[in-house]
Amino acid sequence: MLKGFSTELQRILVILAISSVIGFFSDHYSLWMLIGCAGYIVWMLWQMRRLNQWLLRQETDHPPEASGIWGQIFDNIYYLQRNQRAEKDNLQAVIKRIQEISSALKDGLVILDARGHLDFWNPAAHRMLALNTKDQGQSVINFIRHPKFVSYFEEGNYEEPLELPSPRFPSKHLQFQITTFGKRERLIVVRDVTQLHNLEKMRQDFVANVSHELRTPLTVINGYVETLADNNTTPSWNKPLQQMLQQAKRMSLLINDLLVLSKLETTEAGHNHKPINIELLLTVVKSEAEVLSKDKAQELTLACENTTKPLLFSGNEKELHSAFSNLVTNAIKYTPDNGVVNVRFWQDQKHFYVAVSDNGPGIEAQHLPRLTERFYRVDASRNSGTGGTGLGLAIVKHVLMRHDAELKITSEVGKGSTFLCVFQLPH
Ligand code: ADP
Repeated sequence: MLKGFSTELQRILVILAISSVIGFFSDHYSLWMLIGCAGYIVWMLWQMRRLNQWLLRQETDHPPEASGIWGQIFDNIYYLQRNQRAEKDNLQAVIKRIQEISSALKDGLVILDARGHLDFWNPAAHRMLALNTKDQGQSVINFIRHPKFVSYFEEGNYEEPLELPSPRFPSKHLQFQITTFGKRERLIVVRDVTQLHNLEKMRQDFVANVSHELRTPLTVINGYVETLADNNTTPSWNKPLQQMLQQAKRMSLLINDLLVLSKLETTEAGHNHKPINIELLLTVVKSEAEVLSKDKAQELTLACENTTKPLLFSGNEKELHSAFSNLVTNAIKYTPDNGVVNVRFWQDQKHFYVAVSDNGPGIEAQHLPRLTERFYRVDASRNSGTGGTGLGLAIVKHVLMRHDAELKITSEVGKGSTFLCVFQLPH
């Protein structure tokens, strides 16, 4: 740039020198100086015109030849343009690659702007949701109208995905997972989970059918074994008959729990909901459990705190009764004789809580996350005597989930455990 600038200065000096020499000899000094300046200005304007024409042509050819500052300006603009073109080509290649990748994806991708309007989608999303080019800029809720999707979309809590029947083909099941990015834009990943859904349905139906079919023969076996045990006169048969009776009862308990669980899985949540007086329900659970706790000389207490008027919570009474009862029975079952089991109920502005604590053996931390899995037991040998089915906490978890509540388990080995149910109060 400096070189061009000094050439330009030299050019001005030469023009001024020539003008002044001619002006000096022709006695029209000022006129020739003016002509020299005007000539320089005209030359400048001509260079500007060349630049403008070259820019307007928008061609990739080389810039016009020029010397001095103009030559440098032409060259610099030319290099800038070349760099920009290379960057643009790079960006276009990246965009093309992303488009190819998104087209190859089996999962649907939908990008929404900050208002939740359709911005971009890949071919899989077009197939699954029937989105067309003319739908660009429309709200996504116009295309996925299911009430569950609308509330999932508007609530903004996208930690868990949502599963729904496909809005286009009701026999298909889709999973929607939303992620927010950039300036409140959202990305929806749509996955076809029909196969998984059907497998899960098959599993649920299988468990429900098998449990149902086993119930009647087992009742018959139970009845005969009981009669045989009552009328047995052969002492050597006493032990086998008692064991048969015990195992048949265990199987009945197991089948009952399996049926309860499959009913919880297969029926729509919100079924049979009515206002329930939670304190009253806990009092009933406590009085039912007292027989068990007295047998083990345990102290069983119920404390309801901070309640000015009884709390009426809309829920399924049978389900909640079974959940609280499972927690209290477990506490009594796993706490040794003379132990203490406390049931507490309290509320704050947004939640109400039911806690069942005991001073039993406690549970090691590594087992806590798995306790609510079906048939998960901390120590099968230790539990075999308690007559449990391994399904109690799975039932509790399902019941709480159906009431939008959460189960939190804390425990310390040697000190005891607390099972806390956190319910949301209606707004
Ligand atoms: P189970 O029918 O075996 O009681 P649950 O699903 O109710 O099945 O409980 C799962 C496991 O959690 C139990 O086998 C037991 O090991 C452990 N557990 C549950 N409640 C308690 C408790 N209050 N104290 C110690 N361990 C417990």
